[in-house]
Amino acid sequence: MVHVTKEGETYSEVPLNGMKEMGNVTMKKTILQELPIPTHLKEYLKPVGAKNDEFHVEGNIQCLCGNNSFKVCSSNNGNITQLTCSSCGKEMVIFDAGKHGYDGFVCKDDFLDRTEPLIQYVCKKCRNTDFLVDVSISSQGKEDFLEEVVNGDDSFKPEDWVDGFEWITASLKCNECGAKHRNFIDVETM
Ligand SMILES: [Zn+2]
Ligand SMILES: [Zn+2]
Repeated sequence: MVHVTKEGETYSEVPLNGMKEMGNVTMKKTILQELPIPTHLKEYLKPVGAKNDEFHVEGNIQCLCGNNSFKVCSSNNGNITQLTCSSCGKEMVIFDAGKHGYDGFVCKDDFLDRTEPLIQYVCKKCRNTDFLVDVSISSQGKEDFLEEVVNGDDSFKPEDWVDGFEWITASLKCNECGAKHRNFIDVETM
C-alpha cells in the first residue's frame, strides 16, 4: 500500500512481524517508510509491488491525465530522456544526467552534449511509437545523504535526499505488440 502525505512525501506501508490480537479487533502493526522517488518524478512514478523501501523503488510512469503510454525521445545514449503523453501531449523529462541523481544534482556534473537532437524511439518489431514505461530508482538512503551532503553544505536540505539517487533504470514495453526494451536507461549516477 502506498500513501502520500500532506507534505507530498510518498510512503509504503511495510507489515511488521505478525498481527496483534486485541479482543476481536486485529491490529496490524506497520511502519511507514519513505520511498526514494525523485522530486521530478513525484507526480508520475506510481510504485508497483511489495519490495519498495527507502533504498529502492520501482513502478510505472503515469501522466497526470491518467494515461500511461508515451512517445519516448532521448539523446546522449538515454542520459536525457523525455516522454510525451500519447493522450494529452504533456512532456516530461524523466531523466537528465546533468541535473538528476548524485552526480547531476549534488556534484552539478554536466557532461552532456545538449546540442545533440532528441531522437524518437520506434518499436523494432512493429514500428509503433507508444510505450509503457517502467522506472526503478536506487538510493543510498536518507541517513547517508544527511551525513555526506547536508551536514557539510547549507545549500542542500534534508528532503533533497530523494534527488541524490545513485542508479536509475527505465524499461519500455510496446503498447502495440508488447515487445520489451529492457534498460532503455541504465545509468549509475554516482
Ligand atoms: Zn496525459
Ligand atoms: Zn511493437
